[in-house]
Amino acid sequence: MVDQDKIRQAVTLLLEGIGEDPNRPGLVETPDRIAKMYEEIFAGMGQDAAEHLKITFPVQDNTMVLEKDITFYSTCEHHLMPFFGQVHIAYVPNGRVVGLSKLARTVEVFARRAQLQEQMGAQIADALMRHLQPAGVMVMLEAEHLCMTMRGVKKPGSRTVSMVTRGVFEQDAALRQNFLLMVGR
Ligand code: ZN
Repeated sequence: MVDQDKIRQAVTLLLEGIGEDPNRPGLVETPDRIAKMYEEIFAGMGQDAAEHLKITFPVQDNTMVLEKDITFYSTCEHHLMPFFGQVHIAYVPNGRVVGLSKLARTVEVFARRAQLQEQMGAQIADALMRHLQPAGVMVMLEAEHLCMTMRGVKKPGSRTVSMVTRGVFEQDAALRQNFLLMVGR
């Protein structure tokens, strides 16, 4: 749960800091709007991925499961600016799978926090390894970071790509190739 009072005070100070008048009509509701919005975009702070990954189903066939193009929106912890894009998650089951929607829910738990792209990939992979105990996990993220593209450090629309592997994906290059082929990259 976010502390809405603290956020309202901070946004008022921030507006003063950039030389604005927080009492002018366009801004007077802004601290309150941001406090309410933060409640939603940082909702992952109080959530545990275990909640979504505790119900599993037995499978006979332990071939790779891939859920690709899961859209996410997160907030860069260095600049408090959005970064957003797609995440692709694959795992090789070890006799058990989770419902596919649970992978997207797991992404939300970690996206709705002050976050770094590489850290988010690692947290998703580690949560799957811990709760589902598969033979391996691979997570790929492709995202635009407004803290980069809005400031013109990089070209607008350029994307940062990161990958995390655990278990069999670490040793098996053919499996990683198969992942990239299926994702279409
Ligand atoms: Zn940033």
